[in-house]
Amino acid sequence: MTIYHISAECYPVAKVGGLGDVVGALPKYQNEMGAASSVIMPFYNNKFTNSNKFKKVFGGRFNLGVPFDFDILTLIDNALGYDVYLVDIPGLLYTDYVYSSNDTERFLGFQIAALDWLVQLDHKPEVVHCHDHHTGLIPFMMSQCYAYAQLKNTPSVFTIHNAQYQGWFGHDKIHLIPPFDFSKVGLLDWQNLINPMACAIKCAWKVTTVSPNYMEELNYGANGLEDLLRYESGKCVGILNGIDAELWNPATDDSLIKNYSIKTVATGKKANKAWLCKEFNLNPKLPLFAFIGRLVGEKGADLLPDIFHNALVHKNVSIFMLGSGDVAMEYQLEKLKYQFEGYYHAYIGYNERLAHIVYAAADFLLMPSRVEPCGLNQMYALRYGTVPIVNKIGGLKDTVQDFENNGFGILHDGATVHEGSFAIHRAINFYNDTEQFKANRNVMMKIDHSWNSSAQAYINLYNSLIL
Ligand code: ADP
Repeated sequence: MTIYHISAECYPVAKVGGLGDVVGALPKYQNEMGAASSVIMPFYNNKFTNSNKFKKVFGGRFNLGVPFDFDILTLIDNALGYDVYLVDIPGLLYTDYVYSSNDTERFLGFQIAALDWLVQLDHKPEVVHCHDHHTGLIPFMMSQCYAYAQLKNTPSVFTIHNAQYQGWFGHDKIHLIPPFDFSKVGLLDWQNLINPMACAIKCAWKVTTVSPNYMEELNYGANGLEDLLRYESGKCVGILNGIDAELWNPATDDSLIKNYSIKTVATGKKANKAWLCKEFNLNPKLPLFAFIGRLVGEKGADLLPDIFHNALVHKNVSIFMLGSGDVAMEYQLEKLKYQFEGYYHAYIGYNERLAHIVYAAADFLLMPSRVEPCGLNQMYALRYGTVPIVNKIGGLKDTVQDFENNGFGILHDGATVHEGSFAIHRAINFYNDTEQFKANRNVMMKIDHSWNSSAQAYINLYNSLIL
């Protein structure tokens, strides 16, 4: 089965968040199951593209008001476990960032170039799997644009990684979409805007989200798409994301200060914690709480300064924060450093290696999210023997059970300062019960969140479309 995943991110080529992790791992697992799964993504100007060699497999030109030349490139030495095809559009997509303010044109160009290439292949895709709104117009273009008529009967699957971002733009830009039967213009529209995510929900053969519980939640809160999702519920399914258990393995992770397995978790985590605490002037004898993520309201990042403050005044915890995003939140989180020197550190920025060390070093990982379609951080935490403290929503509800309810993590009910602070209070008591805390690490590390079963669920879904 030939599957093309189309996405704005794919780790290690380019990653901003969980989308990159998912698209970087799912095709690898699918190929191990016998599929022929590859990825189409933009060619950005970044460390990965600058330090690898590529060859051209196709060249073309499309019109976006003005003509753009593009190339399809592929890696010469590829150890990713799947083929990756990069769409290089100089002057439009070849940028040193993934997302920006002119994304409408950038990702329209990306989608058009990807389809211009796919449509002329001798061996056509059997399934096109699109990820998030940056690729949301592809199911429409495959079924309605004259230029892609040869892909009309190819099944398309669309995965909603985050329904908050829908890629809306005005009808004044409709001429940028390749010619199509204008009687079908309604498929592009949602509430008087062209809405790529809504359009994908209407046009894709199947729609998936990244956890079963998030699928449920979207019926009541989907940033304006609730009615549409309820209407299309027959083709929608929630499939829980997995993690790349080879890449995220504390026994082999070469980012760590010391590797460890279930048997050596105590000494392994201690060594990573000692390094982190020394490096950032924290007390290694206290329970270490960490946050890793985008500093946005969805992640509950605006609650963190108060939650941290409430905990730090007692001087019985160490806290490490790694993240970037909203400037006001960055400022608030940075400022706390001066008030709680020796107990708290904020690292403002994105640092992949440091994130791995933090998962290994921390005793607890905080996720007071308001929206969490799946969440990968809690699954990484579990694999590294770190207790996740999460708000009971989205994929967090699907993956974390409370230790006081036959589980292994800490759940709180609501993204509020009070709930977050009380969860930390419970966590300290849990930490002080040394034997139970130690035994719980083994329980967490044994949980299998690898892609195996979810990659198979996607294959079953594709099979239901092509057989
Ligand atoms: P989202 O995609 O909504 O940001 P996920 O939990 O699905 O959230 O995925 C987040 C991914 O991004 C994880 O791999 C996490 O480790 C990583 N990440 C987020 N912020 C940072 C950061 N500042 N530095 C390093 N990694 C980060």
